[in-house]
Amino acid sequence: MSQAPESNSKQNCTEKNSHYETLNVAPDASQEQIRQAYQALALKYHPDKNPLESDQFFRINEAWKVLQDRESRRIYDAERMLDSCREDYFINETLKRRDFQLDVVEDARWYGCRCGGRYLLPEELAPAETCYIACDECSLVVQVDP
Ligand SMILES: [Zn+2]
Repeated sequence: MSQAPESNSKQNCTEKNSHYETLNVAPDASQEQIRQAYQALALKYHPDKNPLESDQFFRINEAWKVLQDRESRRIYDAERMLDSCREDYFINETLKRRDFQLDVVEDARWYGCRCGGRYLLPEELAPAETCYIACDECSLVVQVDP
């Protein structure tokens, strides 16, 4: 087990609010709860009504852009775990894309975690992109290089 490299673990340490905090929802809120929270806040902080809070309106929309989509939310969650400044998150392993096995039944690429869970490779990942994937069972994270 190796600790997350500096560049990854420090990135967002100064960020004061997560997108979840901005929308005032729990990190495990449903898509519907997030949508309702966004709509209420967007109304409340709309620049027409609240010109002094335009920063907040901007943050709310940023948060919504990421969280409204399941896939971008999932990626955000994985990145957030790494950037959360908590010392109990580690990059468990660094893998290459070819290390993942193809599951023909589910049509998905996966790699087995030592806990028995799986790391699922996002289908639409850009070919040259490095990404971080959280185990679907535990808090371990793998780095996947192209
Ligand atoms: Zn695991």
